[in-house]
Amino acid sequence: MNILLTSIISLIMTYNMPMLPYPKNALAPAISEETIDYHYGKHLQTYVNNLNALVQGTPFEGKTVEEIVSVAPDGAIFNNAGQVLNHTLYFLQFTPNPERHVPEGKLAEAIKRDFGNFENFKDEMTKASTALFGSGWVWLALNKEGKLVIVKEANGGNPLRQGMKPLLGFDVWEHAYYLDYQNRRTDHLANLWKIIDWKVVENRM
Ligand code: MN
Repeated sequence: MNILLTSIISLIMTYNMPMLPYPKNALAPAISEETIDYHYGKHLQTYVNNLNALVQGTPFEGKTVEEIVSVAPDGAIFNNAGQVLNHTLYFLQFTPNPERHVPEGKLAEAIKRDFGNFENFKDEMTKASTALFGSGWVWLALNKEGKLVIVKEANGGNPLRQGMKPLLGFDVWEHAYYLDYQNRRTDHLANLWKIIDWKVVENRM
């Protein structure tokens, strides 16, 4: 096989780190540079490396992360693909300078329809994130009927596995906040609301 073809194929089959759309120190105090160094630079990099190694020679080689998360059986490939997808959505949904702290358009209308108002939605999402026991994720997702729902997932779960569309995700593994907040998960969550880029979340609908 020629070199160009080989490199094109390896590009297609390779899972990559998302590029951060902000400097590593820009999300402080919600997320410190030190947490970005570990959470993005070490944890996510490890999931990406693991996934690239694990899929080789399996039916998942060359599949997208979304395809793997949707259909892979529980196990190492699913866990690492889930965490690559989760953290990609997570790190790309933040901005140091949000133009606004509330959604607009279709998303704003759907939140009003399904949660009554934005404050109720925020309370429910925060409560679910505070109450999730152990390591996991809390998602705002669009279900198959087109309704917005809050979904709690253990470990590296993603609502995509149930045919839903993930819109906004909170990582409640301790590695997401322990360096900055120790046991104070609620304080970390309160600060996360201040750095959400609602335009990104709206575009995921
Ligand atoms: Mn994480």
